[in-house]
Amino acid sequence: MHSRPPFPEKVLIIGSGIGGLSTAVILAGMGVEVTVVEKNAHPGGLMRSYRRQGMDCEVGVHYLGSLDPGQILHRFFSYLGVAEDIRARRMGADGVIDRYLFASLCSPIDSFDLPSGVSCFAERLHAAFPQDHQTIASITASITRAAEQLHGLDLLYADDADFTLLDQAEPLGQTLAEMGCSPGLRSVLAIAASWIGVPLDDCPAYYHNMALASYLSSSYRLEQSGADMADIFVRRLGELGGRVFTDAEVTELLVTSRQVQGVQLRSGEILSAPCVIGAVHPQVVLQMLPRGAVKPSYVKRITGLVNTHGIFAVHAAVDRSYHPEIHHNIFRIDTGPAGNVHDLRYFQIRNSRHPDKNILSLLTSGQDELWSTWQHTRTGRRGQEYINTKEQRAATLLVEAEQLFGTLHGLELLDVSTPLTMRDWVNTPGGSAYGVLRSSSQVLGTALLNRTAVQGLYLAGQNVMAPGIIGTIMGSFGTVKLLLGAERFKEKVQL
Ligand SMILES: Cc1cc2nc3c(=O)[nH]c(=O)nc-3n(C[C@H](O)[C@H](O)[C@H](O)COP(=O)(O)OP(=O)(O)OC[C@H]3O[C@@H](n4cnc5c(N)ncnc54)[C@H](O)[C@@H]3O)c2cc1C
Repeated sequence: MHSRPPFPEKVLIIGSGIGGLSTAVILAGMGVEVTVVEKNAHPGGLMRSYRRQGMDCEVGVHYLGSLDPGQILHRFFSYLGVAEDIRARRMGADGVIDRYLFASLCSPIDSFDLPSGVSCFAERLHAAFPQDHQTIASITASITRAAEQLHGLDLLYADDADFTLLDQAEPLGQTLAEMGCSPGLRSVLAIAASWIGVPLDDCPAYYHNMALASYLSSSYRLEQSGADMADIFVRRLGELGGRVFTDAEVTELLVTSRQVQGVQLRSGEILSAPCVIGAVHPQVVLQMLPRGAVKPSYVKRITGLVNTHGIFAVHAAVDRSYHPEIHHNIFRIDTGPAGNVHDLRYFQIRNSRHPDKNILSLLTSGQDELWSTWQHTRTGRRGQEYINTKEQRAATLLVEAEQLFGTLHGLELLDVSTPLTMRDWVNTPGGSAYGVLRSSSQVLGTALLNRTAVQGLYLAGQNVMAPGIIGTIMGSFGTVKLLLGAERFKEKVQL
């Protein structure tokens, strides 16, 4: 029999990204008094889009997986009371969710279309790589199992479940090598891992399989903007009696005798609460703790965490009559002859609010070292050389876009962002896009990250379980489970 932790009556949550807001909605729905404190003027973190020339530039929600009724994200949204308000369109009607185009001459294949459904995926793999028959059968069986675990919410309802405790923990790259996988198949499978910042050779199979399974199960594009999605969550929280304070940066966690007492804001204001959830990166939480509040071993573990790289993003307006919405995503990938991904670029053309213009979005790896000269300066103060470097890189990507889409008619650059932009917007260490690197080498260091050594202090957000909208909300439920105890969680949370 597990002992029941005291039920918290009042909780403060640091950060209003999807992690902070979904945790807040779950707790407020249980009658807890919840306050979310957000450093930015607008809530939503990475989920929130921003506007340039009247057009919505998406930051961290380009598409969503598993939103069919009965699937994990739909179950989450329904429980949170936002399923009706979040409007999204199913992708893949034309048979494609993601089109992979392999750019390098030495690439083992030219292209592959990722379809909707694991069985369709298996058929396409068999057709493209007949020599890999057994490997495909084995990998797609694992992906099917991952989909079942995902939609069955095994991670939440098993007694001590954590991502890292599942089977399929070995690095997928190694398993594929042992199976004698062809370079072509390897390059197709490597993309889901690369997209979330983990090289295939160091990517636990369950992590790859869950990420891929979530999109194969069903993929959707928001019909609204990310800002609308953030506002829906804030409104829902308000309906449940919770509140969000914006322009409220937490600078210190107040701790006495290893028990959290509240937070101090940059303004000097103190907010007291016996329970605080940091829905921000664990390294950010660590910096807020007074010296000596946690043991040196915890400090060492958290400071030693390796993070994923940053992302460079370009948004441009294009003439809608020449460039209608493309209903799938396009990835352009550089691979070596062995099928390992060296770099990838993501392209999306979507309708915008503007009657005559569509929006072209491009994302690629941040090349974090390129921006190190400006790392000590804040947005707006980095000078002309920084702007020139950004625009040069954007221009190179737009040339690549022209190779794919032909001459870009009516092209107007709307915005360019670097890892430093992201670092300053959401306070992620070094501008890391997906937070802690969920690699096989870091399995132990990244396990059970929602616990801390301070009483009443918990973590949530993309770092505690997995990134992505699904992974982050799953982390929120995981943190609430930790707070309530597994038994009470099962009683109170029926998804
Ligand atoms: C470029 C990019 C594209 C992506 N595309 C997709 C996609 O298509 N689909 C998908 O499912 N996922 C996608 N993701 C992943 C997904 O967006 C993230 O995993 C998720 O939004 C993370 O949410 P979070 O709440 O953990 O963090 P965040 O959104 O970063 O929220 C943290 C919040 O805390 C605030 N904060 C930080 N420090 C303080 C402080 N001291 N005091 C107060 N507030 C503070 C920040 O301002 C921020 O609002 C993408 C991510 C990136 C970077």
